[in-house]
Amino acid sequence: MSQLVCQRCGKCCNDLVQQDRGVLRGLSLLPEETHLFPEELVKPYLGIGKRPHMDKFQTIAYQLSSDPCPHLVDNSCNRYDERPTSCRQFPFSLDLDEENEPLLGVDMNCPAAVELINNTDGLLEFTDRDDAERLLELKRRVLENPRRAWVYDLATMKWVRFDKMG
Ligand code: SF4
Ligand code: SF4
Repeated sequence: MSQLVCQRCGKCCNDLVQQDRGVLRGLSLLPEETHLFPEELVKPYLGIGKRPHMDKFQTIAYQLSSDPCPHLVDNSCNRYDERPTSCRQFPFSLDLDEENEPLLGVDMNCPAAVELINNTDGLLEFTDRDDAERLLELKRRVLENPRRAWVYDLATMKWVRFDKMG
């Protein structure tokens, strides 16, 4: 089975802040990963509740507002062994298909992914699938109730209700 060999090109650590359906968003972080970055660079990302700032509102994910990542030094990650889940799963990711089943995606901007696919024997080893499942679970929670799911926009620093996004 072929395994991805990272070429340490640093491409996945740049252009982290991007537009997504009218909202500016950065690298996704699980709640227990926020300590990996300076506090001032960490913002909320996904929330669940009737309205933000109400008592029962729960922030279920955070995001890095900086681009490039502050841990990128000479195209290498200086916290590679403890990098967050979003980085660990890259260039793979899981999304949901029309039947709500997991769908594997590969980011072809990654040269290691291109090399792997060109040289593969047909079987890709997705070693960090458990990590990707955790991020997928967040997407499931949002899609289950889009009228109570919120996304934090880095452009306005305000929450936008998921079903109102562009
Ligand atoms: S883009 Fe791919 S090869 Fe480059 S650092 Fe990221 S994972 Fe490694
Ligand atoms: S934590 Fe490391 S792997 Fe992740 S974006 Fe930053 S430099 Fe890249």
